[in-house]
Amino acid sequence: MTLTLEYVRSKSASKLTGLFPVVKAAAEALIIRCYNRGVPIVITQGLRTIAEQDALYAQGRTKPGAIVTNAKGGYSNHNFGMAIDFALLMPDGKSVSWDMKRDGNCSGTADWYEVVAEAKALGFAWGGDWYSFKDYPHFEMMFGFTCAQIRAGKRPTQAQIDAVYALFKNEEECEMTAEEKAAFKCLQEMVEAQAKKITTLESNAKMAAIPVWAVDACDAAKRAGVIDTTAGGSYDFYRLITVLYRRGFFNERGVA
Ligand SMILES: [Zn+2]
Repeated sequence: MTLTLEYVRSKSASKLTGLFPVVKAAAEALIIRCYNRGVPIVITQGLRTIAEQDALYAQGRTKPGAIVTNAKGGYSNHNFGMAIDFALLMPDGKSVSWDMKRDGNCSGTADWYEVVAEAKALGFAWGGDWYSFKDYPHFEMMFGFTCAQIRAGKRPTQAQIDAVYALFKNEEECEMTAEEKAAFKCLQEMVEAQAKKITTLESNAKMAAIPVWAVDACDAAKRAGVIDTTAGGSYDFYRLITVLYRRGFFNERGVA
């Protein structure tokens, strides 16, 4: 089963709502770039409201379950729509994986780190780079602010936002028009047809058997040590050998 880009994008759509606009756009670009590398991903967490964060904080403390966060409501970068978490989407299109060693696209680099590289190129900071508590599925864009500053109302300047957009805006503009797509398809078909012709020509050039008229010439050339093998030559090869033979090129010196 091959997952389409539209399908992969749809898996994350609900988690992108409410994100800070440039973070949302970068997350969408990340999904596309990873897909193009053969690494489908799903965004598992985007904006978390302060109430949701409080409920999560209670887990393992005042409520049952394991502790999953050290941040109270308003103290996570997710609460401001500036962070996302991801997982690898498996080929079945349903299950997800946090296997950081998996190399699903057989690129020689673990898929996880390909995603990290793409995210960083889009302006995200990676939770795996943190010193105290490593958060491997986490990316965020804080524009140089701390969570406390964002909580206090600080926001990036338009210039900071534009700088992030500049990292991927060109790709959207480069999207092919319908006309260009048709021309490209036509070109693809031409290339395919030419490739077929070349295959035919190549197989024609290689003769299945030595032509009868070239057998003596081939034997003589082989005896003279001029060629090692006489099989699989082209028509021109056998002609050349024959012409040389007729001119006495392969006569055994001192024998005749
Ligand atoms: Zn996170």
